[in-house]
Amino acid sequence: MNYHSMSADQLRETQSDLRKLYDALCAAGLSLDLTRGKPAPEQLDLSNKLLALPGDEYRDAAGTDTRNYGGVVGLPELRQIFGELFAVDPDHLMALGNASLEVMHDLTVFSLLSGTVDSDRPWRDQKVKFLCPAPGYDRHFAITETYGIEMIPVPMLPDGPDVDACAALTADDPSIKGMWAVPTYSNPTGVTFSEDVTRRLLEMPAADDFRIYWDNAYAVHTLVEAPPTPLPILEMAAAAGNPNRVFVLGSTSKITFAGAGVSFFGSSTENLDWFKKHLSIKTIGPDKVNQLRHIKFFGDADGVRAHMAKHREILAPKFRLVLDILDDRLAESKVATWSEPEGGYFINLDVVDGTARRVIELAKQAGIALTGAGSAFPYKQDPNDRNIRLAPTFPTTDDLAKAMDGVATCVLLAATESLLA
Ligand code: PLP
Repeated sequence: MNYHSMSADQLRETQSDLRKLYDALCAAGLSLDLTRGKPAPEQLDLSNKLLALPGDEYRDAAGTDTRNYGGVVGLPELRQIFGELFAVDPDHLMALGNASLEVMHDLTVFSLLSGTVDSDRPWRDQKVKFLCPAPGYDRHFAITETYGIEMIPVPMLPDGPDVDACAALTADDPSIKGMWAVPTYSNPTGVTFSEDVTRRLLEMPAADDFRIYWDNAYAVHTLVEAPPTPLPILEMAAAAGNPNRVFVLGSTSKITFAGAGVSFFGSSTENLDWFKKHLSIKTIGPDKVNQLRHIKFFGDADGVRAHMAKHREILAPKFRLVLDILDDRLAESKVATWSEPEGGYFINLDVVDGTARRVIELAKQAGIALTGAGSAFPYKQDPNDRNIRLAPTFPTTDDLAKAMDGVATCVLLAATESLLA
């Protein structure tokens, strides 16, 4: 029954039943973790052939000896494969080390220390702000927070960030130098940016050195038949008259091995030259043996697509399970809403305003770890204390079912506490 139409007596009675359920949950001595979007061991197993690659071959198709120093832009064949998947011309795409987060960090630090190609002075010598669609990715926000960049939350809508709000802010404030964006199956909302929102983000008036970090971390991570067709973002930026506005990021972290994959950076020629200049100071080149291993493993872009279909076979039932439990336990009470993502790594759960922190605390006491309250918001401040990010990928199906049933009990219990307060 809808909790909002219950009398106080009915709510008290419901609460007392829920308390019994909750006490039993605590007594079960669970130790479950729904916090981080990590691939499950069976997903990692899909890539075990990598462990034996590249065998005793160490030259790529162009004859490069991958064992030696050099080649800061990465191996051409790998850039070709992922260029197709990101809709970026391989000549504008670099294949780098094991983490795109590191590239985002470096882009920010290089801009702070030296300024971008369009900056009149380094960012560190001026006030710098970033637009942060929220809820968003906590590690993005950690970079900007750590380096003293002011974060301005903007709402996430079903077709991408609220572009009217973004445009109004950037038009008026030249200290807004950047924006975090996860265009496909966004972390944690699952939202994919529409072409219209994308075009407007590229066209909107902003500082010359305003940069969109186009973090396409989930470009091919679909739970349905096929992922959305990627937008040719660099060409669109050039057509909009802002060729240097976009930094494209991506990686194979959740395609092959999360700690031992390859990351990618795409941008305009000017931005790439700027990045290479700074990067060449910190490295003589990426791990090309690992890149060669990935080329041999995938063969071509269709090889990546076929591989992602195997991930989907493992992940789709887990997401279905979570959605079924949410529906079964929470739909009638009307105390929560949640995303039904078609891809990515998360389900976004919104509970009764003012109760997310309490739900997370109740779950913790019952041995179920949920991502910290507010962590999907800049400065960890969820203005409504309602958002909880669920990460269904890592646990076994059994653990996931137990954890989600427990979470549902906590959501309902916290709702009765709030409604009776
Ligand atoms: N970007 C987003 C949106 C993510 O969700 C994650 C991981 O959860 C990453 C980047 C991390 O990527 P990488 O392993 O390439 O650093």
